[in-house]
Amino acid sequence: MLELKRIIKAYTAQEFTFTALKGVSVKFERNEFVSILGPSGSGKTTMLNIIGGLDRYDDGDLIINNKSTELFKDKDWDAYRSHTIGFIFQSYNLIMHISVMENVELGMTICGMNPTDRRQKATELLRRVGLEQHMHKRPNQLSGGQMQRVAIARALANDPDIILADEPTGALDSKSSVQIMELIKEISKDKLVIMVTHNKELAEVYSTRIVELLDGHIVRDRKNIETEDKITRNYRETRTSMSFNQALKLSFNNLKTKKLRTLITAFAGSIGIIGVALVLALSRGLNAEIDTLETTTLSEYPIVISQIPRTININQHNPFSPEQEIDLGIERFPDATEVYAFDERAQNIDHTNVFTDSYINHVKSINPDHFHEISFVKAVAMNIIVNNVFGEYSTFNRSQARFGELLNNMEYFEATYDMLYGEIPESPYDLVLVVDEFNRLDERILTALGLDMSFDTFQFEDLIGIELKLLLNDDYYIFDDIEGVFSVADTSENLYYSEAAITLQIAGIARINPETEIGIVGSGLKHLPELTDIVLDHARTSEIAILQSQVNYNVLNRQPVTETVKMSLMRNFGAVDTPTQILIYPRDFDSKNAVKAYLDDFNRGLPREEQIIYTDLAETITDTIGGLVSTVTIVLVAFSAISLIVSSIMIGIITYISVLERTKEIGILRSLGARKKDIYRVFNAETIIVGFTAGVMGVAFAYALSFPINLLVSRIIQEVNQIARLNFITAGILVIVSITLTYISGLIPANIASRKKPVEALRSD
Ligand code: ADP
Ligand code: MG
Repeated sequence: MLELKRIIKAYTAQEFTFTALKGVSVKFERNEFVSILGPSGSGKTTMLNIIGGLDRYDDGDLIINNKSTELFKDKDWDAYRSHTIGFIFQSYNLIMHISVMENVELGMTICGMNPTDRRQKATELLRRVGLEQHMHKRPNQLSGGQMQRVAIARALANDPDIILADEPTGALDSKSSVQIMELIKEISKDKLVIMVTHNKELAEVYSTRIVELLDGHIVRDRKNIETEDKITRNYRETRTSMSFNQALKLSFNNLKTKKLRTLITAFAGSIGIIGVALVLALSRGLNAEIDTLETTTLSEYPIVISQIPRTININQHNPFSPEQEIDLGIERFPDATEVYAFDERAQNIDHTNVFTDSYINHVKSINPDHFHEISFVKAVAMNIIVNNVFGEYSTFNRSQARFGELLNNMEYFEATYDMLYGEIPESPYDLVLVVDEFNRLDERILTALGLDMSFDTFQFEDLIGIELKLLLNDDYYIFDDIEGVFSVADTSENLYYSEAAITLQIAGIARINPETEIGIVGSGLKHLPELTDIVLDHARTSEIAILQSQVNYNVLNRQPVTETVKMSLMRNFGAVDTPTQILIYPRDFDSKNAVKAYLDDFNRGLPREEQIIYTDLAETITDTIGGLVSTVTIVLVAFSAISLIVSSIMIGIITYISVLERTKEIGILRSLGARKKDIYRVFNAETIIVGFTAGVMGVAFAYALSFPINLLVSRIIQEVNQIARLNFITAGILVIVSITLTYISGLIPANIASRKKPVEALRSD
């Protein structure tokens, strides 16, 4: 059933070649119990390893159950070791970190037998070798003789045809030796047993045939006891297949024996994960805070639409309607070897929002549910004269006094401002003095009102009733026909007291109320929009502005007056009522988006010059902060990623150490028929377990750390009570990242492990 034909095996160490088997030919039959004797170094172990498929012969042939092994591939040898051969070693070669039961099961595990059958078979075998009551112990809790019996049970597990024993009693006392020999003898009844031994007496007593080796040759071969029936079987073609679960279990058990080291490794690996997790949690928290800011606090910041020209670089972004991409006629990231010259200024376009009637009407018909207030800022000239407390008369400085319009929507004004003193303005000639939340007013405002600035404080009652005189253009200017110039009609004092002067009076003092987030009206002197209308109505019916433009044309330019020049001249005289700026105050975040979409609608399909661009202040602010947060996040994640990679490399090194430590185990697994792939899996399983532990630890630590961080931050900034927000999905992804990184770092060590030669692996200690 087993035949060696002129087997030659040579070892090459450095340049020296040693031939251990020099053409061994021998034939064994089933039911034989062969003892191989010979001095040390005669080639006994070599021969046994070749028969067992742990080592390859250089020449000749090994025939097993009528099948030549000449063309055997790796997987055939694996299957052969798994199903045809059972090994018993002098040093038992049990895996110490799994139980006796699991050791016996190992061969069956490797060939993919199901757990119930495996357990049943292992129990039966352990009963047979008399170790039933020890099956849950670890091998190192047993005596030498008992360990060898476990090894015998393991060798028998897959019902092999051949049992190979290399000095099985070599490490045992004589009493145990006899017990082991009895056991092997019993096995040999229906199997071929080939046993290497030094013990001639035992060989004589137990074996049926004795083969003697010397210097790689068989020098003697004799029958000791006659054996009967010589049934020959045919070779069973089989395959082994160990599942990944088994690999996981094996590695898990191994790691359990090195708990502290595994924990330290995982902890080191988790540091990078903690870093990344915390950075991501903080960034998430910050972004959430920014969103809150945008949707709550900043939501009432106005959308600003200005007439003032803006320089826009069309290469950078397109502020026009989102659908309308500007075609530059060139390709981005060209695959070219030349540099193109271009005029950068030509890429910048000055865009002026031209407020046509249709645009004003478009804005005026924004759904009123969406805004608190739309203010149209108009640049209307007003001629005003002030009489100061020292009895002097002068032109009132409107910009110093922050003289501007109150809201169109007085209800909203009343809702957001408190009247501190006096009355809400009713007539167009009533003025309101708006102070800041500290009751302050800028000195320039007070100076413009003509007050005595040697005082620091002013009583409300003294401010109420202050009068200013407004003069319409036709009353304020006179035109000199001869010189062709305009001049002010009279002295300030005379104008102040002239009949045409309109009296404006401070009627009340207002202040933003504490609940209002954003004061739409700045501090200063404010009037109702109706006053603007009165001035504009006059300007429109007055000829003076038209006259002025013609004069300027004749006297200064001697050139045709362009529309733009004419417009600006006329505006100086208050003849144009198109606003210079429109401010839309949305009610909340959603209504702001609705307003923006509505404004975008206007631009759809219009040529670029006619489009109107707006600025969302809140968005600009949050975009800036958000951009900053993303940049910082990327930098910090990059830093933590470095520590992640360093720890992965470290895990790779530790896995390599583990490979070195588990070399023996690799040999045992291979001797039981495990494939290279299975060994590879065992180590992959190990790195996956470590990576998983590191990931979970990292995420757990980061989560735990987020509590003190949140507490600390909320102490410093009251509004922010959850700055670190570790998201469940992020945590999951980080665990996967950790597993992946350690898995990758373990690929090389796992590969090294899988390439180890079985014989060499077994020899290591
Ligand atoms: P035995 O088991 O009879 O003591 P072995 O079969 O182990 O002898 O070894 C036979 C000879 O081959 C010895 O001289 C030994 O030194 C040599 N040998 C065995 N394995 C190797 C190896 N891997 N490399 C080099 N020489 C080896
Ligand atoms: Mg030997």
